[in-house]
Amino acid sequence: MKKSLFHHSLMLLLLTGCTGHSQTLAPGYEVGVWRGFRSVAVSYTFDDACSNQFALAIPMFNEHDFNLTLFTATGTDWIGPPNWTRLQEAADQGHEIASHSVTHTNMSGMNDSLQNFELEASKADIEAHITGQKCVTHAYPFCVAAKKSIMEKYYIAGRICSGTIVPRNPADFMNISSFVCGDQGSTRTAKDFMARARSAIKSKGWAVYLLHGIDNDGGWSPVASEELRASLDSLSANADLFWVETFGNVVRYIKERNAVSIAETSVQDGSITVQVTDELDNEIYNYPVTIRRVLPEGWPSATVSRNGLAVPFRMVESNAALFVEFDAVPDCGDIVISRSDETGVRTRRGATAFTPVLSRNYPNPFNPSTTLHFSLAAAGNVTLKVFDALGKEVQTLMRGRLPAGAHSAVFHAGGLESGVYFCRLEAGDAVQVRKMLLLK
Ligand SMILES: [Zn+2]
Repeated sequence: MKKSLFHHSLMLLLLTGCTGHSQTLAPGYEVGVWRGFRSVAVSYTFDDACSNQFALAIPMFNEHDFNLTLFTATGTDWIGPPNWTRLQEAADQGHEIASHSVTHTNMSGMNDSLQNFELEASKADIEAHITGQKCVTHAYPFCVAAKKSIMEKYYIAGRICSGTIVPRNPADFMNISSFVCGDQGSTRTAKDFMARARSAIKSKGWAVYLLHGIDNDGGWSPVASEELRASLDSLSANADLFWVETFGNVVRYIKERNAVSIAETSVQDGSITVQVTDELDNEIYNYPVTIRRVLPEGWPSATVSRNGLAVPFRMVESNAALFVEFDAVPDCGDIVISRSDETGVRTRRGATAFTPVLSRNYPNPFNPSTTLHFSLAAAGNVTLKVFDALGKEVQTLMRGRLPAGAHSAVFHAGGLESGVYFCRLEAGDAVQVRKMLLLK
């Protein structure tokens, strides 16, 4: 098994070598084409700051835990001055605020200095008003591309709308295609949105949607809000296949994935130190890539940490081997993969939710109560239950949908007898178990 895996990684190295990228991976590693090793990237981009983008789309995306991109012109002539307060609110929720020029003019006939003004000043204006993110992408007004050499001075990607799926390695980042949505385009219903996304599964491509108006807000080519919502519901229901992220973050992911270098600096009994680096500008390229490593022979399971902090991970079965999979922003310190024997981390094929990190309870041994801490990489349905040594359920500590982040629960064992108890955390398809000792 070990040998075939080695060949498998060697093959990967050779394959990536052929495409001209500088990705270098130590044997046993794989990097996801898309985050979480999903099949398709999906980006919803909205132009011209139509009012229902704020009133309807953003709340809808927040509900689904998805991020969108707002391309806004920064001048006052096209749609009036940008509403920086609303845009900052959206930015604070994780959405991308990006450039749609200053005056919203077709740039094809413009001289270089005017094009430079449209591209430079809109970026500068957004960055002067919006904190917490950089303005790194641009959507050409009327989908007419500006001069590439000027674009490259300010942006990592530009969006056109030629109605095709973007390949996983775009030929030209300054000409990223999108689908025009709404009554002037061919993508109108949830069914249309999903047909586009599904058509990208086989090639592992990227579906980019271009929207303006929603319902009757006066925006161009409106999409019905119920169709938009239904498309998000479908993507959520198929979260193992579809990765929904902002335009800019998908570009970051592609460039990082292709530039990443993964090296092991120390392999000791039960502990592997890994360096994940790239040569890209860390000011812009600060998005995580998803990495998996085959478990060393004899390891029942593993945990992951970085700079002393637990990193969410999941165990994945792929090509008859067991991998530990996690996200890592390049250039942010050494990662340690540690052998783990005690946990009941199990993976069912196709599981997508990252295994929550269930920390050791404290205190332990305990009497009469102890606290459990866990963290979730993504929002989801969680149950946290306690079982006795015979597997009998004794208490439900938590049940329901929780946001991503750190959570805790207290186990009160007042009426119970001394002995071993197990705390079992279930989040999506992932299960993790911790042993606790009650000593009275
Ligand atoms: Zn526009």
